Amino acid sequence: MEREQYLAAIKPRMPEKRYIHTVGVMETAINLAHKYGEDVKKAETAAILHDIAKYADIEWMENIVRDEKLDERLIGWGSELLHGPVGACIAQSEFGITDDELLNAIRFHTTGRANMSRLEKIIFVADMIEPNRRFDGVDRLRKKAQKNLDKAMSACVRHTLAFLIDTKQPIYPLSIECYNDMMNREDSEG
Ligand code: GDP
Ligand code: FE
Ligand code: FE
Repeated sequence: MEREQYLAAIKPRMPEKRYIHTVGVMETAINLAHKYGEDVKKAETAAILHDIAKYADIEWMENIVRDEKLDERLIGWGSELLHGPVGACIAQSEFGITDDELLNAIRFHTTGRANMSRLEKIIFVADMIEPNRRFDGVDRLRKKAQKNLDKAMSACVRHTLAFLIDTKQPIYPLSIECYNDMMNREDSEG
């Protein structure tokens, strides 16, 4: 499918604001894919589909977790944690996407995980720094993303975890595994 077809397919499934965010993630992901030698079309498609399940019914998503034998730990965490893994299922079942790298970029875009692929990092970072995002420190993250993808990924994960701790929210195990992996790599890289 071409970009315009994907965009037309996702538009009715989300509010205008989320659609604008999605287009921002798409443009940012394309830019990062060019910069870091990733498959541009894959980055574009993963970005367009990354929040496809954001407004899906929670009970429906929890049933998908059970039916598709996804990580049972997802039950009870709500749509913020469900929409990535369920979005990957929708990308597969409704859009016929079979590429595991692309599906994983959608699946892990909220939490990250240990040993992330380049495409996963590009979608995670693009989601956080796309031009419509406004929060303290976002410009610093944007600059980092233009210099070093791993350092930008690390800074984005630290920012998310710091925010979750500040606002007293529980941290999903994959988010912690992602953080630990990033910190261990930083140690070994000096
Ligand atoms: P969005 O879908 O474009 O809004 O962005 P994300 O998919 O990256 O994140 C959705 C929400 O999940 C954000 O508000 C994050 O702060 C939140 N989030 C990310 N990781 C965790 C986590 O480990 N635990 C909790 N409770 N929330 C998280
Ligand atoms: Fe998301
Ligand atoms: Fe998003």
